[in-house]
Amino acid sequence: MALITKAIKGTKDVLPAEVHKNQYIESTCLSVAERFGYKEIRTPVFEHTELFQRGVGDTTDVVQKEMYTFDDKGGRSITLRPEGTAGAARSFLENGLCNEALPQKVCYLTSCYRYEKPQAGRLREFHQFGIECFGATSPLADAEMIALAKQVFDELGVSELRLEINSIGCPECRKKYQDALREYFGAHKDELCPTCQERLERNPMRLLDCKSPQDKALAENAPVVLDYICDECSEHFDSVKNYLNAMGIEYTVNPKIVRGLDYYTKTVFEFINDSIGAQGTVCGGGRYDGLIEEFGGQKTPSLGFGMGLERLRLVMEAQGCEFPEAEKPDLFIVALGEKAQLKAVEIAQDMRNEGFTVLLDLNARSLRAQMKYADKLGAKYNIVIGDNEVENKSTVLKNMQNGESCEVSLVTFVSDFYRISMDEQLKDLEINGEAFDFGSLFASGIGED
Ligand code: ATP
Ligand code: MG
Repeated sequence: MALITKAIKGTKDVLPAEVHKNQYIESTCLSVAERFGYKEIRTPVFEHTELFQRGVGDTTDVVQKEMYTFDDKGGRSITLRPEGTAGAARSFLENGLCNEALPQKVCYLTSCYRYEKPQAGRLREFHQFGIECFGATSPLADAEMIALAKQVFDELGVSELRLEINSIGCPECRKKYQDALREYFGAHKDELCPTCQERLERNPMRLLDCKSPQDKALAENAPVVLDYICDECSEHFDSVKNYLNAMGIEYTVNPKIVRGLDYYTKTVFEFINDSIGAQGTVCGGGRYDGLIEEFGGQKTPSLGFGMGLERLRLVMEAQGCEFPEAEKPDLFIVALGEKAQLKAVEIAQDMRNEGFTVLLDLNARSLRAQMKYADKLGAKYNIVIGDNEVENKSTVLKNMQNGESCEVSLVTFVSDFYRISMDEQLKDLEINGEAFDFGSLFASGIGED
């Protein structure tokens, strides 16, 4: 029985009282992405295992240690997506987006699955906001992608993040660099962790990203990639920096960033926070000019990033960023007796049609119990309908925040409610000097002519 009421280790529920915070972060991400020309793409939660082996790279930690892989009942090897790029790239090819005008810009809010040791900022199911720009060669695309992430942080009020960038070159210049790494780490082969001893030959750059303490210590003094990149990669990197300067985006060059996924080329970057503990990288990404070809498509230089939404929220909370308040119900209708119930249902329907949030008692409770429930829900207004009110076609509308009340007709209730609640909002506005919420004026439709 205990298992039934216990969530899987490394997963987290988002409860109704908190979900508006996630929705606020998510809608900000989508809204910023839209302003840069990105449209949402939705791909399946699982894919053929080969897709990630090829796309993420079969010598990466993600593929070697972290994937949720299983055989389905038909004997196919299936993997829960550990990241969003491979699925988006597959879809780009499979659905012929590659034949449309380039670049194709897609974004997503998606769950990801990695078998890792759960801790602060590290879950087994987590969520990413990601963007992918397929088919863009200019370094402006790299800078724009970074600017997009930065704008999300700015709009959410997140300031405690530093941007680090690097270039890890192209497959050409990387050959020389990999030789240098093989030589450097080869001299210490016995000290490496078993996984790294194996990947030293095939993919020595992965050693720079290993989490084992002795490998990390060795990586400190390893050759850095920036000393090896070719002229073209170097010019590209300079140009990205120039664009960032022109955009007023501050960064530092960290020649040690290589990123954990194999597909990156040239520009890589991370936004890092220092106050939420060891897992401080909130967003990471870069250019991946070879990935689409790796999947069998035409050469399509591309780029993208993934932003960890749980980590982003941790940073926001650590920094004390403001979140909007959860929306409260506009009206709770207390109904007593059968006739009153029918009237209440009718009014609720009319009000909901106009965009108001209206709740009714669903347990045939007493007047007191219904009032208590309305109070718990934080309803802005209530009315009570009993036999008398139905007969007289009128009731009392009570403002539950300030206790004020006034007589209202049940016949013209919706428009009366609209007028009264609007008057009070305007009054509050004068008193508090707050920004008036014009959105709610039009949400009901009544304000439009
Ligand atoms: P890390 O070095 O922290 O393991 P990563 O390089 O594996 O990160 P990416 O694959 O680049 O991460 O994923 C992009 C973002 O997704 C990360 O910067 C982070 O914010 C978030 N992320 C990655 N793994 C997890 C996880 N297990 N739990 C929560 N968020 C994660
Ligand atoms: Mg990782």
